[in-house]
Amino acid sequence: MSYRRLLNVVLLGTAISVAACSETDEYAVEPQSGVDYHSFANTEDYRVKHVDMDLTVDFSRKVIEGVATLQFERVGDGKSPLILDTRDLTIESVHAGGSGELQAVTFSLGDNVDIRGAALAIDLPADASTVEIRYQTSPAATGLQWLEPQQTAGKRYPFLFTQAQAIHARSFVPLQDTPGIRMTYSATIRTPAELRAVMSANNDPDAEKNGVYTFSMPQPIPSYLLAFAVGDLEFKAMGPRTGVYAEHEVLDAAAAEFADTEAMLEITEEVYGPYRWDRYDLLILPPSFPFGGMENPRLSFITPTVIAGDKSLVSLIAHELAHSWSGNLVTNSSWRDLWLNEGFTTYLTYRIMQFVYGDERYQMEMSLGYADLQTDLDELEDHDELLAIDVHGRDPDDVFSNIPYEKGALLLFEIEQKIGRAAFDQFLLDYFNKFAFQSITTEDFLAHLERTLLKAHPEELDAKRIREWIFEPGIPEGAPHPQSDAFMHVDTIRENWLSSAATAAEIDTGNWTYHQWKHFLDGMPDKLSREQLEDLDQAFELTASTNNEIAFSWLRITIRNDYEPAYDRLEDFLVSIGRNKFLVPLYKDMMTAGMDDMADRIFQKAKPGYHPLTVKRNSQIIYPE
Ligand SMILES: [Zn+2]
Repeated sequence: MSYRRLLNVVLLGTAISVAACSETDEYAVEPQSGVDYHSFANTEDYRVKHVDMDLTVDFSRKVIEGVATLQFERVGDGKSPLILDTRDLTIESVHAGGSGELQAVTFSLGDNVDIRGAALAIDLPADASTVEIRYQTSPAATGLQWLEPQQTAGKRYPFLFTQAQAIHARSFVPLQDTPGIRMTYSATIRTPAELRAVMSANNDPDAEKNGVYTFSMPQPIPSYLLAFAVGDLEFKAMGPRTGVYAEHEVLDAAAAEFADTEAMLEITEEVYGPYRWDRYDLLILPPSFPFGGMENPRLSFITPTVIAGDKSLVSLIAHELAHSWSGNLVTNSSWRDLWLNEGFTTYLTYRIMQFVYGDERYQMEMSLGYADLQTDLDELEDHDELLAIDVHGRDPDDVFSNIPYEKGALLLFEIEQKIGRAAFDQFLLDYFNKFAFQSITTEDFLAHLERTLLKAHPEELDAKRIREWIFEPGIPEGAPHPQSDAFMHVDTIRENWLSSAATAAEIDTGNWTYHQWKHFLDGMPDKLSREQLEDLDQAFELTASTNNEIAFSWLRITIRNDYEPAYDRLEDFLVSIGRNKFLVPLYKDMMTAGMDDMADRIFQKAKPGYHPLTVKRNSQIIYPE
């Protein structure tokens, strides 16, 4: 079965039919397969192959003045205008042409349409294979965050970083902003001379600090992996292929915390095939970064909130590294298939953690993930519990729940359990090789599975059950339930304490890592007495914890139980950190607890330092319609 869905957009009064991107013919069984609802680009007519960017970063106006030169291939009849995605861009001029000199061409920029932004339609000369677009970004660009010096560790210089996933690249470069299209790129970034620019490309740590930095990215990437940052950045090597970029103030701590990155890289290559991106470096961002990490190729962007001093939160690095195979190499073709990126990556993360840190850590990490999944399964609507999720008419940023991550990983874990680890690792190695540098749909994955594992293991695997995992809510009967021996021990300790058999001071927490602490705290009943809260806080100094995950779990308890000795810390936490994983539950908890006024006051105070995505997400919680 095959079909084509047309989206009608109105461009300056002219109705133009824009076909969303291609679909698979062979296995297109679900109505959304291969359709990217979030892009205007007419990828069935043109495919961008390379983009060159010349970007001037203006901190005083919070804009980027850009020239983007796109080289494209014609795949249709060449009669349609070239349609690109933009959001809040001012287009100054467009030139186009073939091998000769480019000439000015007419273009029209549509109005902002829902979450997608505005379509840029460019009339092309018959032989055109290149367009050059001069433009400016808006200070409100959703993909850029401009930080004042006081929001950085050094407090002397401003900072700028991009976040293109899911559909924000279009707010700083006009392009075909869909994960279904891959392109190489080159770039020149012009900054104040005292700052350094880095990109998801071939960074040179020895490049002279002079305000002009050039990059090339020879491997084709989807637009959501386009990334750069500008700041007072230094570099420190961690291994032959790994290193850290950060402000001077956090450089040594980050390099020590993430010292196992090279080992993670080596073991992942050994099992899942070569690392195809040359170097793997980390960029440590200021604390307002809205995510844990972003897997920008060659240079993962990382929140500083995982620098705990004891490597207890480095599964985040394993996760971003794993994306070098699942996501960056084999990519979801639209946001409906996000689980192909995140479920595979979450599965790989657990495996990498086991390779590097052993079985106990592996079990604890998986159990925590399973608990997160259960929380979401309790809270989400059925339609949000599918792996192949309906994203039509929705902001793809809103479908990043634990479903694509943990439910996706649990499906892969079940397959591993049924056919054995060796067979499943071989399958993954072949999968990464076969689909390297391609964007695929859920149906492509299923067709591949049909030809390989389902054929080889008819006794153990069942196509119907796998479809149930992907296209039905919840998790199928008899799904695996990861367990941790260490956590069972913690459960006993918690029960003893709750039954007053022991005081908190009597609990031996000597060898606990964050994992045991989180499990201990997250397993507490909703209501605790004031005496119990004081007992915990005095024995373990939880309000003062410098581990952000432990502080987060504790603060949730204090909100539920109106334990105001922790509220200064709560305020400080919410103002100093912009990571949505922490902020969204804390603000939700405050609203549930009737702390609306306090949530509003803290949010207003913190807002100037939050990323646009953080502001948007949490506004919806604090100011519901
Ligand atoms: Zn991820």
